[in-house]
Amino acid sequence: MEQGVFKVGPIRPPSEANSLLLRVTENCPWNKCKFCMLYKKSDFHTRPVADVKKDIDYMAEYRDRILAHERNGDYDMEAIQREYQSLTSDEAKMCYQMVFTWLTEGDKQAIFLQDANTMVLRPDWLIEIVSYVRERLPEIQRITSYGRANTLARISLEDFKRLRAAGLDRIHSGYESGSDKVLELISKGATQEDEIIGGKKVKEAGIELSIYFMPGVGGKALSDENAIETAKVINEVNPDFVRLRTFILRTGSLMEELRDAGLYQEQRDIEKLLEIRKMLANVDPKKANGKIASDHIINLLQGVEGNMDKDLPWMLEYIDSYLALPEFEQKKYQLARRMGFPLDWKYLYRLQPAEQTRIEDMAKNIVDEREWEALLHRFTDRYI
Ligand code: SF4
Repeated sequence: MEQGVFKVGPIRPPSEANSLLLRVTENCPWNKCKFCMLYKKSDFHTRPVADVKKDIDYMAEYRDRILAHERNGDYDMEAIQREYQSLTSDEAKMCYQMVFTWLTEGDKQAIFLQDANTMVLRPDWLIEIVSYVRERLPEIQRITSYGRANTLARISLEDFKRLRAAGLDRIHSGYESGSDKVLELISKGATQEDEIIGGKKVKEAGIELSIYFMPGVGGKALSDENAIETAKVINEVNPDFVRLRTFILRTGSLMEELRDAGLYQEQRDIEKLLEIRKMLANVDPKKANGKIASDHIINLLQGVEGNMDKDLPWMLEYIDSYLALPEFEQKKYQLARRMGFPLDWKYLYRLQPAEQTRIEDMAKNIVDEREWEALLHRFTDRYI
């Protein structure tokens, strides 16, 4: 019995947490964004198509072996344990476990192509891989990938249509900002024009587009610009999803150099929320009908979600109702949220009494603004 080992990369979008992961390329071909620390010590390379197809074969083999122990939705766990223990390498065991988890707890219909910018692969190679996924894993209904805006702008509409026909369903793209000034500041290696041209082609080909917006990444000086120019891109492209990722200046990132050189001043937590509000207020519901998604713990108000053509007034009201709270109430919620409690501010009373007291004491006693922001930062630094 062959003990296949397939490769798995380090990250996937949160919305692909339950998807099977297929590593098509390794690391990031750009690797220069100042806020990103993910692949800085690793070189980018593509994987031979034959190797990726072999990985798909291994996934299909593990799936077949595991499903051989399933009857009417129930798994013979003793047989599965025996089979798992019979694998002699830790890597093979990890692959078996991964396919088992995907089949039993994951989204059996979804696969994500890793790593940071799979769209950089030659379209013919990517088409061969996507087609092979469809052939060997016919249960898959959704194939998704990351793609940088600059790469998307360079792919022809014809190639996007061929990729769509082969079975590519969705592209996730870290736009981060629609402002050229911000994009340059953070060394994103893409322009607003790339975002608009690339995004429009993706949409026209019938592929879903999921973009990421980083409120706060332009700092205090470019906050309005970040909000307004990002809304402009959203209005032009009409992405299917705009995913909010509040920016946090991470310890050890190259953004610290910008800050130390006086070129970047991080906003307060609440100011980043105001930036989200400004971005939303500038979205035109007659032009954009996709979803605002807040699928990350890093966002202060995770309830700010909805359809851009219907829910913008509600989202703005929701933010305003938080901002209308007395400062002490705002601080209590901020701290609870940054400590990791997944609650709306109306439900803080559900916390354990000891936690409530601890939060109230800190919110009352820390009056210095810088000390307060530093405290919040210590918590948020863990989340990214
Ligand atoms: S393109 Fe993505 S993975 Fe690459 S450096 Fe930028 S943020 Fe990081």
